[in-house]
Amino acid sequence: MVDLHGQYLKIKKEVDSAIQGVIDSTAFIKGEDVRQFQDELSAYMGVKHTIACGNGTDALQVSMMALDLQPGDEVITTPFTFIATVEVIGLLGLNPVFVDVLPDTFNLDPAQLEQALTERTRAIVPVHLFGQCADMESIIEFAKTHGLYVIEDNAQALGADFLPEGGAVQKAGTIGHLGTTSFFPSKNLGAFGDGGAIFTNDESFGKRVASLVNHGMEKRYHYDHVGVNSRLDTLQAAILRVKLKHLDDYHRRRQEAADWYDTTLSDLPGVAVPVRSSFTTHIFHQYTMQVPASERDALKQWLQDKGIPSMVYYPVPLHLQKAYHDLGYREGDLPVSEELCSKVLSLPMHTELEKNQLEYISEQFRLFFKS
Ligand SMILES: *Cc1c(COP(=O)(O)O)cnc(C)c1O
Repeated sequence: MVDLHGQYLKIKKEVDSAIQGVIDSTAFIKGEDVRQFQDELSAYMGVKHTIACGNGTDALQVSMMALDLQPGDEVITTPFTFIATVEVIGLLGLNPVFVDVLPDTFNLDPAQLEQALTERTRAIVPVHLFGQCADMESIIEFAKTHGLYVIEDNAQALGADFLPEGGAVQKAGTIGHLGTTSFFPSKNLGAFGDGGAIFTNDESFGKRVASLVNHGMEKRYHYDHVGVNSRLDTLQAAILRVKLKHLDDYHRRRQEAADWYDTTLSDLPGVAVPVRSSFTTHIFHQYTMQVPASERDALKQWLQDKGIPSMVYYPVPLHLQKAYHDLGYREGDLPVSEELCSKVLSLPMHTELEKNQLEYISEQFRLFFKS
């Protein structure tokens, strides 16, 4: 599914020397590379404040902590995402409320926000799933009308451009009050371990978040808020500084692979290639197709027998996960997400896919439907 070693070999010299530099400095925590990485990422994102932290889950948690919500307050999000999005809502004593997704883009359906709204709704957490933006124009408009916060879970779309009609281009993750991302190794900008970041254009949120990730410290050994210990290691920051320079190139490689899959697989009956929204670029964190539910597992096995990995992101929607049983959702409550879980299949997608590999994958994929 990914080829992190191949990617490393191409930048080995730069990465190795960056790592050695940190070891020589021994500034393993809060070293100079962390500050520089934050500045460079802010410039790349066109955002005022970037606060690095320990991982993408913490980034979500700390963003929510910065909002000063009360236990029982409701946060609207999607059930068709990675578990982290919803787990932090619960951990903070808040109530997650699920809104179904659109069947073509897999992203939160803004038309369904209204019916999820209650007196306790405080925030919306849209997820830019698989590499393209949710419909932020509609989501922001709804949030403004109802005085809600918006936190973008941008773990999968770091670097995607949001292109509102007639408006200026903005990077995904810099549109809401706060945005979060993850540097998990397989993400588009992957560290050699865990890492994450929070983005905001709001000065007071920026200060608050920077304090929260460092135990809520304001001045040294003075704590104004209950915080957490969630920092990006200097080693990871040094590696990420090298890789950030290649990020747009990495996106291009992924997009080329996606274009290939689109061209070679879109005519198969019952198979849908990913739909690209007009208001966003797609950086293809995943290339996720929809195939007939009755054939998916056989197709997956067929591919595996030919040496081709594929994955189901995600097999069970979050509202039907055992851990969230107490929220009271039932099968049928969020039908689009439930159906998608039975139909999606993601193909290998990374920066090191060569033409012959892509050809082989498409060929074998097509053969399944002919046999
Ligand atoms: C990866 C991911 C996260 C969590 O990031 P970690 O760095 O693994 O904690 C959160 N949300 C989404 C949508 C993700 O894909």
